[in-house]
Amino acid sequence: MTDQTPLGPVDGTKVPRFAGSATFARLPRIDEVSSFDVALLGAPFDGGVSFRPGARFGPSSIRQASRHLRPAYNPAQDVSPYAVIQAVDAGDVPCNPFDIDHALQQIDDGVSELLAAGGRPVLLGGDHTIALGGLRAVARRHGPVALVHFDAHLDTWNSYFGADRTHGTIFRRAHEEGLLAGAVSSHVGIRGPLYAAHDLVDDASFGFEIVRALDIDRRGIDEIVDGVRRRTNDAPIYLSIDIDVLDPAFAPGTGTPEMGGLTSRELLALVRALPPDQIVAADLVEVSPPYDHAEITSLAAATLGYEITSLMARARGDA
Ligand code: MN
Ligand code: MN
Repeated sequence: MTDQTPLGPVDGTKVPRFAGSATFARLPRIDEVSSFDVALLGAPFDGGVSFRPGARFGPSSIRQASRHLRPAYNPAQDVSPYAVIQAVDAGDVPCNPFDIDHALQQIDDGVSELLAAGGRPVLLGGDHTIALGGLRAVARRHGPVALVHFDAHLDTWNSYFGADRTHGTIFRRAHEEGLLAGAVSSHVGIRGPLYAAHDLVDDASFGFEIVRALDIDRRGIDEIVDGVRRRTNDAPIYLSIDIDVLDPAFAPGTGTPEMGGLTSRELLALVRALPPDQIVAADLVEVSPPYDHAEITSLAAATLGYEITSLMARARGDA
């Protein structure tokens, strides 16, 4: 934790929320503070998508939607996050739009820099490919992680049209690269048809347990979160939220929407119940503003960014 009084967001009672700074939640920029605990970092890359593009515009759209937030006090988590931790907006990684491996290296470098400064990174995507850059940096610093993965899709396929680093294959790569800590990871919100039944067998062998969207109704929020928490076995958690875990009614602006998803209220409840001390990094991905309406999807992602940083503010010490 920072030992100075954190520099907070622009005060919404003095400067209206639609005015002033364009950073996430109108937080200070990283170059305005001497140290920080949590940093939001844009990864505007969508060169790994298999269907609708547009997630390269996610970071700027999430920041714009984050103007809706009243960040001073979060009653759902009983915390004034930005008075407890120094949170900053670290800007965007200048992702190469023509070279997936180069973009992943740039994201890895950007996240590594934040980790080296003692901060916890929250990546704003970008398509889900960016998570591989984040995971590589995080595992190098913290060791293999428990991945808590909210998504309609497994993202553990092998390759697509000969490409093996895409938004649907990153978590198989993460397993192969030794970034995941054995049988401790979970997918939450999975639904929809698969390319093959064997996909599920492969997925289980990488250390994942699947919580399907329908399980939320059958088992309830508390039981599901208990299971996900216990399964992590105290490993450091990398939290990855693909916005398409939400039903298209709550997140239309995304690359590969699937019917029958979570409500935004369910997702907020699940995220708020995760263990604050274990979360070392997070990403929010697959917001595609050109397919959005009335900022619905960007607002969902902005609110989740706020809830994740609130969780991090509740942690007892440095990650
Ligand atoms: Mn997905
Ligand atoms: Mn995904």
